[in-house]
Amino acid sequence: MKAGASGPERLDIAITSNGTIARIAPSIDCDPEVPIADISGRLVTPGLVDIHQHLDKTATRRLVTNPDSTLTGAITAFETFQSAVAPEDLMFRAQKTVEACIARGTVAIRSHVNVGPKVALRGLEALAELRERIRERIRLQIVAFLSREAGYSASSATHWLETAIAAGADAIGGAPAHADNPEAFLDVIFDVAQRRDVPIDLHLDEHLDSTAHRIRSVVGRTEAAGFQSRVIAGHCSALGALPRVEAAKLIERLAVARIGVVTLPAANLYLLGRGADRLAPRGLTRVKELITAGVPVAAGSDNIQDAFVPVGTGDLLEIARWTVLAGHLNSTDLGAAFRMITSAPAQMMNLVGYGIDDGSRADLLITEAEDEEDMIASGATERTVLLGGKLVAGSLATALSAQSRN
Ligand SMILES: [Zn+2]
Repeated sequence: MKAGASGPERLDIAITSNGTIARIAPSIDCDPEVPIADISGRLVTPGLVDIHQHLDKTATRRLVTNPDSTLTGAITAFETFQSAVAPEDLMFRAQKTVEACIARGTVAIRSHVNVGPKVALRGLEALAELRERIRERIRLQIVAFLSREAGYSASSATHWLETAIAAGADAIGGAPAHADNPEAFLDVIFDVAQRRDVPIDLHLDEHLDSTAHRIRSVVGRTEAAGFQSRVIAGHCSALGALPRVEAAKLIERLAVARIGVVTLPAANLYLLGRGADRLAPRGLTRVKELITAGVPVAAGSDNIQDAFVPVGTGDLLEIARWTVLAGHLNSTDLGAAFRMITSAPAQMMNLVGYGIDDGSRADLLITEAEDEEDMIASGATERTVLLGGKLVAGSLATALSAQSRN
């Protein structure tokens, strides 16, 4: 069954030998030598898309400690660790997490990776090598994450971003809130992005200080640069700390500038609001209002088992479920939550050929769910995953079409 706008439809899907969907129709006849998989009415959807991870940090929870469990504590702890990390160890841990994600239905991941004077390009080069090694199993994009010490001077920041792009970064970003001069930090990022024609993916306002948000600044720079639809604002937690009327004005500006927002419930729930005397805040951005205003909104894993977040499985259905709960979505929003881990991030990452239509890439997830909403509500106990029409996780019994009709 193919998930459709008006509910699942029972259809055949023909996939070409080069991994694209040739045709979707109620009944398709094909040549006798073409292998056929009978999936017996299981649900077929586009594969899941994880738009925000940190594969250079993943699976280090036993190696890097963060005693106070704050964001600043995690950043400091990881800075010390990363300068001595062996590339082969980083790649081993990253691949283990990627494989866990594939098994759970993820067909594309965008990972941030620290670049700067301490770590240099060590992490980026390791992930670029991994991207090649596993290109038949998943689509991996890399964001050069400008570390705070790289931003101490414009020339240093420019140098590290440009060398990262030359080394294979697909996008550039960083966390202005942790720079000594956030506006100068943003100046450099937008300048390099414009000159080198690469998209921007920021960690924006991952804090709850309503007086220190940079949304207006990022919107203005995006419009001045003509970068509409090419800027992502991850977190936007401070938006949740602003009064509703003031937040609504900024949300409208985000919509007009076509800036995508990525909510990251795991890190927000775990790291933010720890100083609260009572009623600790959730830390998420205003997910519901952003969607209602037409802002593209995605949800991602962020950190998986490291000093920032000690838990995580790579299961995006779980992340979507947390978004429903922590983001105060309604029971009628389960479909929207599904889009936040599929079509919305795919569009933000400009994943060519993503979808489930004639001509799309056959990057598909097959489950026993009733429909997309059921995938969010119930999860899926068994998952079969295709990338470019080839099986990368789960099982798929195939037989030649001539045999299957006997
Ligand atoms: Zn992050």
